[in-house]
Amino acid sequence: MAEESGAELSTAHEPSAPSARFRRILVVPFDHLNRDAGVLRDADPEIDLIVMVESQRMLAGRPWHTERLFFMVSSARHFAESLRAEGFTVDYRQAANTPDGLAAIWQEHGRLPTLSAEPSSFEQHRQFRQLGIELVENDLFLTSRAFFAHWAGGQKAFVMENFYRGQRLRLGILVENGKPVTGRWNFDAENRLPPPKNHVWPPRLEHERDDLDLEVARQLNHAPNALWATTRAGALKVLDHFVQHNLVQFGPYEDAVTDEDWSLHHSLLSPYLNVGLLHPRELVDAAVAAFNRGAAPIESVEAFVRQVIGWREYINGMYWFLGEDYANRNGLAANRKLLPVFSDSNKTKMACVGGVVADVEKRAWVHHIPRLMILSNLALVTGTNPREFLDWMRENFVDASQWVMVPNVIGMGVHADGGQLMTKPYAAGGAYVNRMTNFCKGCGYDPKLRVGENACPFTTLYWDFLDRHRDAFAKNHRMGQQIMGLNRLSDLPELRERAVEVLEGLELGQI
Ligand SMILES: Cc1cc2nc3c(=O)[nH]c(=O)nc-3n(C[C@H](O)[C@H](O)[C@H](O)COP(=O)(O)OP(=O)(O)OC[C@H]3O[C@@H](n4cnc5c(N)ncnc54)[C@H](O)[C@@H]3O)c2cc1C
Ligand code: SF4
Repeated sequence: MAEESGAELSTAHEPSAPSARFRRILVVPFDHLNRDAGVLRDADPEIDLIVMVESQRMLAGRPWHTERLFFMVSSARHFAESLRAEGFTVDYRQAANTPDGLAAIWQEHGRLPTLSAEPSSFEQHRQFRQLGIELVENDLFLTSRAFFAHWAGGQKAFVMENFYRGQRLRLGILVENGKPVTGRWNFDAENRLPPPKNHVWPPRLEHERDDLDLEVARQLNHAPNALWATTRAGALKVLDHFVQHNLVQFGPYEDAVTDEDWSLHHSLLSPYLNVGLLHPRELVDAAVAAFNRGAAPIESVEAFVRQVIGWREYINGMYWFLGEDYANRNGLAANRKLLPVFSDSNKTKMACVGGVVADVEKRAWVHHIPRLMILSNLALVTGTNPREFLDWMRENFVDASQWVMVPNVIGMGVHADGGQLMTKPYAAGGAYVNRMTNFCKGCGYDPKLRVGENACPFTTLYWDFLDRHRDAFAKNHRMGQQIMGLNRLSDLPELRERAVEVLEGLELGQI
């Protein structure tokens, strides 16, 4: 978890007597918990002091979901323990902020050469540079920042599919003689089934809590549960469980949402990848091995591999390529304040939105379709301020980091970047939600109606959104069909009136 910026930075720490034993200080941020990567790859217990700073600014700087804080802090403390068990000296320091924690370390041990892996946010990168920390490559990804910048610099449009095919070839994954195994690069078209009827969802793994977990939970006033593993051993079990129980059907139901099961066949692996407990290569190897031994079909294995070597690497690359100011883009001039439903799932009558926000309240996680087509869609069509929505997403998801939230929310979710990442907005009305989820059955609104008291708010606001941005979208050839549809609406005046009512109702928490 990158520390929030704003701390006074100072590198002028007068060293006391230099440490007789250590020759280097290796700083391990809470999202680099990997023994085989970054500065730890060639670490030596004889000469290296490992430093981890649990900063108060990081813990209390924002209204984080306690599930997320619990996962981050307990994983970091377990990781420190595992290094100690290996013979390392680990100074796990609690401090007001990272610079203060490091100042205290330098005071005790002298200003030894201090190294860390490239931090995963602009803020922390700047902070570490100012503190004079030497940075080594962040190899928790399969694509270096320099490689991605080279790729992106040569593109007219940043098409993920082109990047992904290049990754398959470059990394030699599911390819034979320069061609995709089984003849096709992509099985996305097969992977859009709605939720199945009478499906038996596999059981999920539960993680027993140890004393360290319980101590962290107590300190955070968090009710301990069995949801997220906080050790590498636990994360490996989740990977194994996914390959055994979910990989086969991962592809077909990737986009489905049902209130019968909260994770469907998704892997639940993002938190472990994002803090370093697992490396993306391990996920890919496990999925490809299942394919090679005939235990999983190409439609699912390719879909999973695409998420990991395609989307994840692309999003990280784009975060660094697009620059720090990208997080503040607001291309659609969306300035509505965050709706009350984001702080209380009861503040809506929309079954889909209420259900998804309630899931986030419970577990700090929902899969990519609720994130995109329910939460972001709501922010998009209501014209909610992108920065306020981004902050909410970042504070409330167990797997959130700046590098992954910023492009996903600003570019993919709310189209605030003028179409730099995605050529058209992911706006949808109730018909999409009705097809891909089973929420509408239990909702007082009708997904087919766009006007009247029972009209589905998503359906009304979808058309109203197109209407409000008609001029901008008319220039986008990929929006041509939607604009034609808008032009055919005979009830646009009534729809505009209903949209005003819906927006007011949402602001009052009554719709
Ligand atoms: C608006 C929005 C916000 C998102 N915020 C985050 C976030 O904060 N952290 C995060 O890790 N993912 C984020 N994602 C991507 C995706 O929703 C999650 O990675 C996924 O739901 C995590 O669950 P899983 O591990 O079961 O994923 P699976 O469906 O099992 O997919 C496997 C892996 O693919 C990777 N992946 C897939 N899509 C993406 C993507 N668009 N960006 C990055 N990685 C991807 C993840 O590492 C994931 O673990 C976001 C997507 C959207 C649309
Ligand atoms: S009818 Fe509309 S608001 Fe209700 S669940 Fe369906 S999409 Fe959501």
